Amino acid sequence: MYTRRFILSSLAGLLGSAAVPSWADAASRKTPPLPGRKPVPKAASKMPPRPPAVVILDPGHGGRDPGAIGVTGTEEKDVTLSICQSIRQALAGRSDIKVFLTRDRDSYIPLPSRVAFAHERHADLFISIHADAAPNKSARGLSAYTRAEKATDDFARRLADRENQVDAIYGFDAHATDKQTAAILIDLARRHGHNASLAAKRRIVTGVGERVQLLDNPMRAANFAVLRSPALPSVLIETGFLTNPHDEKILRNSKSRAVLARYLADQIAPVAMDLREA
Ligand SMILES: [Zn+2]
Repeated sequence: MYTRRFILSSLAGLLGSAAVPSWADAASRKTPPLPGRKPVPKAASKMPPRPPAVVILDPGHGGRDPGAIGVTGTEEKDVTLSICQSIRQALAGRSDIKVFLTRDRDSYIPLPSRVAFAHERHADLFISIHADAAPNKSARGLSAYTRAEKATDDFARRLADRENQVDAIYGFDAHATDKQTAAILIDLARRHGHNASLAAKRRIVTGVGERVQLLDNPMRAANFAVLRSPALPSVLIETGFLTNPHDEKILRNSKSRAVLARYLADQIAPVAMDLREA
């Protein structure tokens, strides 16, 4: 079976781009033995230290975009930033996980820049945190989204999409490469990414759901712009609805936010570890 890292390192070898994960570079780069010298036996050679899993936390909204406004005036952009900072703090002691935030202050970041930020850091997992408004004010509880898969039988369009995604996934210049092979590898990477996103969503919702209120139908899918990175396992978490008085009470309180963040960190960590191995 093809692993995610195998696919990505194959793409790296095929496309020869510098814009590939650092571990993919290392995997495809082998130093030839010096002439007249026996190569060092495998058992005696030291394995390089495994790089940490890179987790990107994306606090929704920010700056001129406040997001949802709660029943007592709580702004979503503040809630999401606070939760992301607390998740980072909860994971700070780990040497096997490296956490980056797409924003660390009250600033406006366009959605494509958030995804680009994740690519630049060779992310293993992308988690976007929100606390939006619900049309039904009684709706409450945590839910999580993965990207909805678009089913289409328009072959030509799919082919064009696939070609476009070469740049969209890694910023590769695919013009002088074997496009057919790249298309197959990209399709594999996309399927791996989607399956990993579904598994991450399931694990996070199931784990956190043992400790916090969930929305009635908590595992959801929609075409969010920040989830449109095909090879990167991505989940958008709605921590609750600021339009619901119960949820807002939890989300506006710094202590209960920190508890929720700890629960999320407890689930994000094993997901990141699995992706690091994959
Ligand atoms: Zn939001």
